[in-house]
Amino acid sequence: MMVKQILREKGHNVVTVPLDATLSEATVVLAQKRIGALVVRDTEGQVVGILSERDIIQALAQESVNALTHPVSAHMTRRVSTCSETDTIDDLMELMTLKRFRHVPVMAEGRLAGIVSIGDIVKSRIAETEREAESLRGYIATG
Ligand code: AMP
Repeated sequence: MMVKQILREKGHNVVTVPLDATLSEATVVLAQKRIGALVVRDTEGQVVGILSERDIIQALAQESVNALTHPVSAHMTRRVSTCSETDTIDDLMELMTLKRFRHVPVMAEGRLAGIVSIGDIVKSRIAETEREAESLRGYIATG
């Protein structure tokens, strides 16, 4: 199964924040949208980083509540690993396991085309397993 099949179901929307948003603002967006990471864009709309809830926890652990007034740019990860729509779910699982992160933005023709989280992968795997079990049951019933 490919990344584009996950995006077909969940859509292409990606929640982003500007570089100069504060950690406090980013935290509000994460909570309101019930998500775990935000893609960070510069003024031209280019992807320049990713900020996950773990980055906020690290910042709070190191700098206490003062961190909440810092810009996102001070705590985000700048080297973002991305994937394409034609990558497989297996590729993504391997990437997330090796690099120990749970979010991968999807790029298509140089533009942000979606984001896949580990939750999306688990959901798609469960659906795939259920489809396989259903077809096996059908095969046994008609056999
Ligand atoms: P996560 O497991 O996604 O909450 O993120 C754990 C750490 O990896 C945080 O420091 C994130 O900024 C970073 N991170 C998350 N996703 C990516 C990604 N696709 N590429 C690079 N770093 C990431």
